[in-house]
Amino acid sequence: MELLKGAAVSAGIRQEVETLIKDLDRAPVLAIVRVGEKPDDLSYERNAVKKMEAFGLKARSYVFDAEISDADFKKAFVKINEEPEVDGILVLRPLPKQIRETDIERMIDPAKDVDGISPASLAGVFAGDETGFAPCTAEAVVEMLKAYGIPIAGRRAVVVGRSMVVGRPLAMLLLKENATVTICHTKTEDLPAVCRQAQILAAAAGRPRMLGRDHVGKGAAVLDVGINVDPDGNLCGDVDLAAIEDIAAAATPVPGGIGAVTTAVLARHTALAAGRRKKAAKGRRG
Ligand code: NDP
Repeated sequence: MELLKGAAVSAGIRQEVETLIKDLDRAPVLAIVRVGEKPDDLSYERNAVKKMEAFGLKARSYVFDAEISDADFKKAFVKINEEPEVDGILVLRPLPKQIRETDIERMIDPAKDVDGISPASLAGVFAGDETGFAPCTAEAVVEMLKAYGIPIAGRRAVVVGRSMVVGRPLAMLLLKENATVTICHTKTEDLPAVCRQAQILAAAAGRPRMLGRDHVGKGAAVLDVGINVDPDGNLCGDVDLAAIEDIAAAATPVPGGIGAVTTAVLARHTALAAGRRKKAAKGRRG
């Protein structure tokens, strides 16, 4: 089984980003919006900041108290949204319960929505056009397949998970690449049998090592989006990698797989957003 490592794919994206930045007169700026101190958010933020800096972008963290009211958070969010220097905004989600997340998804400037959370961005993903940005994790899966030369068109892809953050947009991106896509969820009957049909199996369920030998067909490419902590406190994916080693043709490790590509895609989106904003400003000036 070939291990599909994120670092190599991220390095390829870095070159693209450096070329994009050369055409700008300043480093693109990503605003990272965090409410509270959840360990998952802190770890994602750390990785994102590291990646932005390595790729020549700037990351600015905007941190709010976990108890902030819906009204106060929205007031602050409007300001971030309108900051002329900010090119992209990453909101670490889920937000605390008192904040209406759907309002934030609607408020974010689509031009700065580099993680594809707004209805406008998602509509683009579902329509198969590229005006907005797709959610970074979903795009990272497709990027990984392409970078390793794994064919997508015409093949059977199964996505386990149907969230608006990962599963659904990923299914749409695979469909755009002409895969034949099945989406699975907790009500799917005989999940192992459905998964075994997959030539491309993408796991986005958020359940530690739930997919094992029974779920993987011979020669499948397995993309593990899950980021979980197992009962021993170790980071792990949704796939039991050791169990499928002699069945799958290729699989992504966790950590070191999709996560590294996700932050690289985030950097690319932010650089692209900066370029589009520069072009739009020039257009306005005539
Ligand atoms: P959600 O909890 O929102 O969604 C999980 C989905 O998986 C649901 O659709 C659920 O089905 C389905 N599911 C859960 N358990 C089972 C099961 N036993 N059998 C079949 N389907 C199941 O999670 P997210 O989509 O937000 O995230 C998924 C994973 O991806 C998490 O581990 C998360 O940490 C990780 N993640 C990784 C990122 C990265 O950059 N690598 C970024 C974002 C998330 P139903 O709809 O029926 O409840």
